[in-house]
Amino acid sequence: MVVKLDHIGIAVSNLEETLKVYTDLLGMKLHGTETVEEQKVKTAFLPIGESEIELLETTAPDGPIGKFIEAKGQGIQHIAFKVDDIEAALAELKSKGVRLIDEKPRYGAGGARIAFLHPKATGGVLIELCQKD
Ligand code: ZN
Repeated sequence: MVVKLDHIGIAVSNLEETLKVYTDLLGMKLHGTETVEEQKVKTAFLPIGESEIELLETTAPDGPIGKFIEAKGQGIQHIAFKVDDIEAALAELKSKGVRLIDEKPRYGAGGARIAFLHPKATGGVLIELCQKD
């Protein structure tokens, strides 16, 4: 079902400051930033090999990333796997009784179609499925 590790999502308090760790210290290249209003989040993507690091800064305290940092502090928030057909993947998981946060794909940064599985169904990890095409 899943094709590869697409990216790792990391919740940060200050995107500009944390970006320096990945660019200045680790030598990665910033691919671009985007604000996704629907998710109340500003994102930055840094490609590495076939995967990417996604940094996420909240644009409002009540956004999902704001709440995550409030509860757990900064750190890895989700991992994302690429799928070729997100609708088929969600239908299959649903038919197997997997608890989904998103039953239908929604808009993600970079025009991807994304959906989250519930961490209670995955051993505590927030898993994102994403389809980019
Ligand atoms: Zn993501």
